[in-house]
Amino acid sequence: MFWDRKAETMSREELSKLQLALINKTISKAVKSPFYGELKKQGKIKKIKSLDEVKNLPFTEKSDLRNNFPYGLLALSLDKAVRMHSSSGTTGNPTVVFHTKKDLEDWAELLARSMHMAGLRPGHVFQNMMGYGLFTGGLGFHYGAERLGAMTIPSGTGNSKRQIWFLKTMRTTAVHILPSYALKLATVLEEENLKPEDLNLKMAFIGAEPHTEAMRQQIEKQFKIKAFNSYGLSELCGPGVAFECPYQTGMHLWEDHFYPEIINPETGEVLPDGEEGELVMTTLRRNAMPLLRYRTRDLTKIINEPCPCGRTHRRIARIKGRSDDMLIINGVNIFPMQIEKTIMGIPGVGSNYLIEIHKEDYMDRIHMKIEVDPEFFSGTLEGMEKLQKDISDALKTELLVTPRVYLLEPGGIPAAEGKAKRVADMRSSEQKLS
Ligand code: ADP
Ligand code: ZN
Repeated sequence: MFWDRKAETMSREELSKLQLALINKTISKAVKSPFYGELKKQGKIKKIKSLDEVKNLPFTEKSDLRNNFPYGLLALSLDKAVRMHSSSGTTGNPTVVFHTKKDLEDWAELLARSMHMAGLRPGHVFQNMMGYGLFTGGLGFHYGAERLGAMTIPSGTGNSKRQIWFLKTMRTTAVHILPSYALKLATVLEEENLKPEDLNLKMAFIGAEPHTEAMRQQIEKQFKIKAFNSYGLSELCGPGVAFECPYQTGMHLWEDHFYPEIINPETGEVLPDGEEGELVMTTLRRNAMPLLRYRTRDLTKIINEPCPCGRTHRRIARIKGRSDDMLIINGVNIFPMQIEKTIMGIPGVGSNYLIEIHKEDYMDRIHMKIEVDPEFFSGTLEGMEKLQKDISDALKTELLVTPRVYLLEPGGIPAAEGKAKRVADMRSSEQKLS
C-alpha cells in the first residue's frame, strides 16, 4: 500500500526532528551560492535551534531568482549539476533551476511515491501528455513512472487524435494531463464516436494549473475515472511536491523533502494551520539549488488532521490561485477560480472558458466567453437564452457584479498549447484609447 512505508508514515516527532536537521544542512549548502553567501555576510542567515526559528530566516522571492539569473543561486560548482529546467513563465520571464544527479533521483522517487499512493503499479500503462523539454511536467513524471515500474509512453502534448489512438490501442490505464486539456480531449473522444468504456483508463493525474473541484468531477465523469490533484513548481523540483491520496481530501505535502509555512502575503507573518495564505517552502534535500523560505505565491491552507490513508505528512488544500491572480473589478476582489467554480456546475456549460475584463464607460466589466456543451449546442434557441441567463444570474449571486455572457460553439475558444490562459485583461489598453 505504501511505496516507502518508513518515510510516508513517520511520526510527527520524527518528522520535526528530521526537518530541523535538514534545514540546517540546507543552510550550510545554500550559503555556498553567491546569493545566499551575500545574505550570510550581512548576518541575515544563521543556523536555527528549533523550527520556531525558521521565521527568522529571510524569504526568497521569484524576483531574487530573476535578478541573479542564471547562476547566482547555484550552490555548487557546475561540474556537479547535470540538468536545467525552467518555469513556464506564466507570470513573467522564466526562472532557471539546476539539478544534480541526486536531485533528479530524489525527484523521481517523490513522483514514484506520489503515483503509487494514487494507485499506479508495475503492469500499468502510463501515458504522459505533458511537454517534454524545459517544462518539468514531462521529464519529471516520466522518470517517476519508470522508477515505479510502469510502462511509460512519452506522448507529449497536442495531437488529440493520436493521443486517443494511443489510449485505445495501448490500453493506457493512467495519464498525466493538464485539467484544461482533459476536458478538450473528452470532446475529441466524443467526436471520434468513442465512449469511456472503449478505453481502459482508470486514473488521471491532473495539475500544473489551478482548477476547481467541479472541474475535477467533470473530468472524472467524462472519462469514468479517478482524477488526482498533483502540485509542484519548478523552483522546488517540479511536480511531486504534494499529491492526493485515494481519499482525495487535499494533497499530502512531502514533509521529509520540503518544509512548508503559510504566511499572510501582505505582512509576511506566519499563520497557524487551517488559515489560508501564501505557501512558503524551504527545500530540505536539494543540492544544486537549495531554497530557503521560497515564496510560491500560491494560496492555500495546511490541513493538519489525520488522514485515513495512514500517511503522516500534512495536506494542503486545493490551490485557490496565485496571490497575483486576484482580479479587482470595480473594487471587488475576485479570483478566477471563483468564477470557474460557479460556471462549471451549470448544465450546458462546455469544456473551455475565457474571462475578459473590459473598460466600459470608465467602469470595469467582465465578459465571460463560454463554450457550450456539444449536446446542448444543438438544442433550441430558448434553451440557449436560458443558459445565458442562468450563467449570468449565478455569477451575479457569487461575485456581486454583473457580467456579460457570450456563449460560443464547442471549440470556439482557441485551445492553449500549454497551461490554459483563463484571463485576458484589456483594461489598460482600453483606458489609453478612451
Ligand atoms: P510557472 O510559475 O511559470 O507556471 P511552473 O511550471 O513551475 O511555472 O508552475 C508552477 C505553478 O503552477 C505553481 O506555482 C502553481 O501556481 C501552478 N500549479 C501547479 N500545480 C498546481 C495544482 N495542482 N493546482 C493549482 N495550481 C498548480
Ligand atoms: Zn491520505
